[in-house]
Amino acid sequence: MESAIEVDYLIIGAGAVGMAFADSLIAETDATIAIVDRRDQPGGHWNDAYTFVRLHQPSLNYGLNSRELGSGAKDTTGLNEGFYELASGQEVVSHFGSAMHRDFLPSGRVRFFPLCEVTDDRVITSLLSGRQCKVAAIKVVDATHSQMAIPATNPPQFEVGSGVDCVPVNDLPRLCADYSNHVIVGAGKTGMDAVVWLLVNGADPDGIRWIMPRDSWLLDRANTQLAPEFFARVAQSLADQVQCLAEASSMEDLFLRLEAVGEIRRIDPAVTPTAYHCAIVGDRELQELRRVQNIIRLGRVTRLERGTITLEHGSVSVADDTLFVDCSAAGIPTLPSVPVFDGTRITPQWVRLCQPTFSAALIGHVEADYDTDDEKNRLCRPIVAPSVPRHWVEMMQTELANRQAWSTDPALAAWMRNARLDGFSKMIGQSLGTDEAATAHLGRYLENVGAAAFATTRLLATA
Ligand SMILES: Cc1cc2nc3c(=O)[nH]c(=O)nc-3n(C[C@H](O)[C@H](O)[C@H](O)COP(=O)(O)OP(=O)(O)OC[C@H]3O[C@@H](n4cnc5c(N)ncnc54)[C@H](O)[C@@H]3O)c2cc1C
Repeated sequence: MESAIEVDYLIIGAGAVGMAFADSLIAETDATIAIVDRRDQPGGHWNDAYTFVRLHQPSLNYGLNSRELGSGAKDTTGLNEGFYELASGQEVVSHFGSAMHRDFLPSGRVRFFPLCEVTDDRVITSLLSGRQCKVAAIKVVDATHSQMAIPATNPPQFEVGSGVDCVPVNDLPRLCADYSNHVIVGAGKTGMDAVVWLLVNGADPDGIRWIMPRDSWLLDRANTQLAPEFFARVAQSLADQVQCLAEASSMEDLFLRLEAVGEIRRIDPAVTPTAYHCAIVGDRELQELRRVQNIIRLGRVTRLERGTITLEHGSVSVADDTLFVDCSAAGIPTLPSVPVFDGTRITPQWVRLCQPTFSAALIGHVEADYDTDDEKNRLCRPIVAPSVPRHWVEMMQTELANRQAWSTDPALAAWMRNARLDGFSKMIGQSLGTDEAATAHLGRYLENVGAAAFATTRLLATA
């Protein structure tokens, strides 16, 4: 490694966000770029994912703008049958790795520094040799803002006594057959994946105990299929969201309305969810999750001992022959936002809710095509990742403001119509007018969107 380099952009992090941002810059500018990551290859947390992880939303909507992820086919078997394919962790890593080696590096404008870290003073340090390289860059892109936390790299925040078999979810396939009882610790999407994986592989639902500190509102995968044959369904979902917002009298009323129109769902109809993380499930996954009856709702685990689980609000006995599966890491934590464009620093964050790669690609495009930070930030108001239901309203507030700004910028609207990651704009271009049902739903959307934007302020003020 040389002792100094000069580039236009220094991107910290080669996860999905850093790669999607770089992809837009490579396509739309002549800029030179250095990309640095502590890991040995692009893909970020996906490199450490459990073997059975899959995207929650179709591959159509994820990855890099410049190349397809997967084959664009629908699943014909399994729990996702009839819906567009969901890439596995290996496919996601391969998507980013191929882009790096086939497109980014051969462009001659990108340098990749794996197994290196960047410190605030723009120094790249090799984790292997300790050698350092000073970077003169016009702009620094912090593609680490999401602070992802997954079980493989984040140890549990509870005590584990000696002789207790507690493993990260990654070890479940290797060890599950050695135990008659499985306790899944955590009820985010990773916990749900672990439960479904055990059930579809033949585990007895009565041998599964599920520690659910909070129940979550979940999204319906049917509403995430951004392809022409689902246009009416997706348009209906958008119209329902704004109509529910416009008509809701309180936060509680809002979530009941959203549930009544099928926008959100819960595992147990008798329990009011207090969490929301953009987790997406299809009908058949939901049916599987509902087969587990042994759900422990006593708050978070504080300590595991042989034979006993201690939680915030009580304790529970378990058989000695129990494997504890840690799924308790935060995933995407809820962190305060910062301006996306701030002088020489760019911090990509979501600008469309629950869409990290579309957001990073759009931010890269805005960086390439617009001049001032004011102009750029007006198009890229950051959306904070959610953890509680009221965050859905906060996200919608910012999302609606962004949609409004994008729709009044013809050049940006044209970019979005051609963006692989923006299936919705493409559906509008192809089917608006010819798909009567979808066109009617979009009419209802337009009737309610103004009132919905006002309602977000009203609902948040009274919550
Ligand atoms: C199980 C799971 C499933 C998911 N499914 C979906 C889905 O279906 N759809 C969806 O949109 N999102 C999904 N997500 C959300 C996920 O957050 C995003 O898809 C995305 O992968 C986040 O990427 P990132 O680049 O922000 O973070 P990361 O993947 O964490 O990448 C950041 C990188 O920065 C590097 N880094 C950090 N600090 C430094 C430093 N100082 N120097 C050098 N390198 C540094 C890290 O090594 C890391 O590789 C899922 C998340 C999980 C955990």
